Amino acid sequence: MNTFNPSANSVLLCAVFVVLVKLSACHTVYEFSDVKHFHYDRDVRDPLGVFNWPLTFSRNCNGRSQSPVNIETRRLSFDKRASCPRMMYNISVVQGTLLNNGHSAEFRFNPGNLAATNLPHRPGFYIAHDLHVHYGGLFENSFLDIENQISPGSEHTVNGRRYDGELHVVFYNSRYRGVDEAKHHADGIVVLAYFIHKQSDGVAFGNTMQFSNFFEYNIPQIVNINSSIITALNLDMFRRQPCEFYTYIGSTTTPECNEVVRWVIFREPLLVSQTAWSVLQLMEFNGDFDIRYGNFRNLQPLNGRVVESNFVPNF
Ligand SMILES: [Zn+2]
Repeated sequence: MNTFNPSANSVLLCAVFVVLVKLSACHTVYEFSDVKHFHYDRDVRDPLGVFNWPLTFSRNCNGRSQSPVNIETRRLSFDKRASCPRMMYNISVVQGTLLNNGHSAEFRFNPGNLAATNLPHRPGFYIAHDLHVHYGGLFENSFLDIENQISPGSEHTVNGRRYDGELHVVFYNSRYRGVDEAKHHADGIVVLAYFIHKQSDGVAFGNTMQFSNFFEYNIPQIVNINSSIITALNLDMFRRQPCEFYTYIGSTTTPECNEVVRWVIFREPLLVSQTAWSVLQLMEFNGDFDIRYGNFRNLQPLNGRVVESNFVPNF
């Protein structure tokens, strides 16, 4: 059993993890939603567009604790007691299924490969369900301008800055049988979110080179909608040193917009090479990925919620 905090290794944790995994069923849903077709356009006449999600799918989408939000660093509440989330796994290279779900590339963890504990404001253990990527619109006929093929498309922003993309690693509370059940409980879901920053090929990438390799090798194999492959993911890319994050209470960013998510958003982005990032353009979508807006939801108001950080930001 390994964890991201070596001092936390213990036989006890391993035993607990094994029991939890045996209790957890394998559920296959997209971003904990039964909704298969929804759009990201901002056209108020489109019943499936983001502004009509509350009418078409669920009133939750008009709730007061929605995601994503803009993080204003001058309004952060510093919580020095918030400790670093601890990932638990047996082998750092985990197996799973990568698929083109019509909105994004989604990697579904094989049951039992990964769990998380030591999460801010969420005691207990959470089981990894999937990870998927959000990114911006695609510029057509831009093959001569390789630096600008995909527009910035992170869901959260920091002081108004939108990163190139955002990776969500979705966990559900081990108290529940799966993500389907967990999405109906206030303590059901935790998402570990990583901003993605694209940079020129050949620059130092450190351990996030694994991330580029994963994209470059696997995405071309899931070009067709609903196509999938069995592949492996190296968890070393998620190590964050120092472990600095923002955290707040919000919702899923796709219908049905359930307000059950503890968001943990790491300050330091994952780096991805330009070449690796550009393979996302190959993916086919069924009208659900928007050529202008990609697959990120528009920003939602905080409505008095406070975003905490475990570090003091430098303004
Ligand atoms: Zn997401």
